[in-house]
Amino acid sequence: MPKGIYNVPYAVNEPVLSYAPGSPERASLQAAYDEMYNQVTEVPMRIGNQDVTTGNSVDIRPPHDHQKVVGHFYKGDASHVKQAIASALEAREEWANLPWEHRASIFLKAADLIAGPYRDKMNAATMIGQGKNAMQAEIDSACELIDFLRFNVQFMTEIYAEQPITEGAIWNRVEYRPLEGFLYAVTPFNFTAISGNLPTCMAMLGNVVVWKPSNKQMLSAGVLMEVFREAGVPDGVINMIQGSAAEITEECFNHPDFAGVHFTGSTAVFHQFWKQIGDNIGIYKSYPKIVGETGGKDFIWAHPTADRKALATAMIRGAFEYQGQKCSAASRAYVPQSMWEEVKGYMQENLNEIKVGDPRDFTNFVNAVISKESFDKIKGYIDRAKESADSEVIFGGNCDDSKGYFIEPTVILAKKPKYESMCEEIFGPVLTVYVYQDEQWEETLDTVDATSVYALTGAIFAQDRYVIKKATDKLVNAAGNFYINDKPTGAVVGQQPFGGARASGTNDKAGSAQNLLRWLSPRLIKENFVPPKDYRYSFLDED
Ligand code: NAD
Repeated sequence: MPKGIYNVPYAVNEPVLSYAPGSPERASLQAAYDEMYNQVTEVPMRIGNQDVTTGNSVDIRPPHDHQKVVGHFYKGDASHVKQAIASALEAREEWANLPWEHRASIFLKAADLIAGPYRDKMNAATMIGQGKNAMQAEIDSACELIDFLRFNVQFMTEIYAEQPITEGAIWNRVEYRPLEGFLYAVTPFNFTAISGNLPTCMAMLGNVVVWKPSNKQMLSAGVLMEVFREAGVPDGVINMIQGSAAEITEECFNHPDFAGVHFTGSTAVFHQFWKQIGDNIGIYKSYPKIVGETGGKDFIWAHPTADRKALATAMIRGAFEYQGQKCSAASRAYVPQSMWEEVKGYMQENLNEIKVGDPRDFTNFVNAVISKESFDKIKGYIDRAKESADSEVIFGGNCDDSKGYFIEPTVILAKKPKYESMCEEIFGPVLTVYVYQDEQWEETLDTVDATSVYALTGAIFAQDRYVIKKATDKLVNAAGNFYINDKPTGAVVGQQPFGGARASGTNDKAGSAQNLLRWLSPRLIKENFVPPKDYRYSFLDED
């Protein structure tokens, strides 16, 4: 047990390095990129104390150069999932009983390893494997992940310090137990930080984890496992497996010790999870915790009083950074008629300058989309928009997958507010704009609210304070992260806890104490120093 009530280092956000020409960080990241790009990295599964490879190896290919092989990962089968669960359960007792300051030390060390010696490797893997430019990699796989680790350690201690009232000869205390059983983490391709956060935020609380990363993020997942080991995460505490997503999930959900799932990914997969868990509810020892952050159809709405240049900048950055493959990416915009020509002009100026290509060339703002499957899906929306009488492609629209999966930043003008690309998640560099009549600004807010099933992020642009108040009220349920005069992307840990409701998830706010609470099971301990020794209460006495 701890022999002191310790303070952890006060968490502050990791500064974002600039990677400007001539900076030392630019040169060292380029060197790390070149080294990784010109070798073949093996990414085994990690089960207990074993690095596991199988006969079923899969090539890792950069999205911007799909004929190049930069590594392999290995698919397992049901037997590997069983072993991973068994390893987790075997590690549980010792890990759950390790005093919290030791768990904290491990994850603080992981943060410092990423901030220092692993920063370039982490960023290079994210650039090569997930197609991010240097800045997008830096804010994700370095800064956001470091922030998650440091802030979560602080939030953990704040939770532990939260204690009930104690009066008289009684001492009430709460111990925040890890969940009984094992937890399952399922992570998406688009943020290395999320992949790192989901398993670690649960493990730091004393839980044991089976983690299935996306098969499109395996290069950086391999680096994460290296960091966890070097930081001192004991064998069996975080087990990383790969294989058929459906098969792995079924094995985990069919186990009586399954205690919860921490998911980030698409809405359809999360729906399926919820159903499967419901069908199995009779077999579990505890009610499993179900946390999912899922899809979005994030909006920007502008009032006639909006600052036009700020609006155009938010539309460009919000829609096209990381090729629109952020769950928070702006993908529908509502612009008043009176300012559309001017806003369009600013967008045109920006889009004329934006270069699309390989992330190794730091002048490229937009890189390739993640896969052939994504490319085809996004191209489908663009092709249909070119043909439909209800829409017009006004910028971009060119797609080329001959070398990598490149799609130009594309703007569709929708003639109807419920045109398909105003409603559905596309997850690519496509922004659809609906131009409305200025006097209909209030009705348009209702349209924003009712157009999509999602409620993840949204932004409003206006200078009139009464309008800001009205829009904030009318859109109260339309977004879990709501931005006023700012783009709807770029949430920072500790500053803008992230998550949405409706079909966007359970809104358990990654990067907050609220999320950590889901992975704890408090035990209240009441101790009586002077317990009563007579069953009778005084009201029983005769008058
Ligand atoms: P995805 O749903 O395809 O995959 C996410 C994870 O689920 C991966 O590990 C994948 O292998 C697994 N998976 C896929 N099918 C499965 C199945 N049938 N059974 C079990 N597991 C399965 O999502 P993606 O393409 O990796 O990520 C993009 C999606 O994630 C978008 O919808 C995006 O909005 C969402 N996302 C949401 C947030 C958020 O915070 N709300 C953050 C990032 C991404």
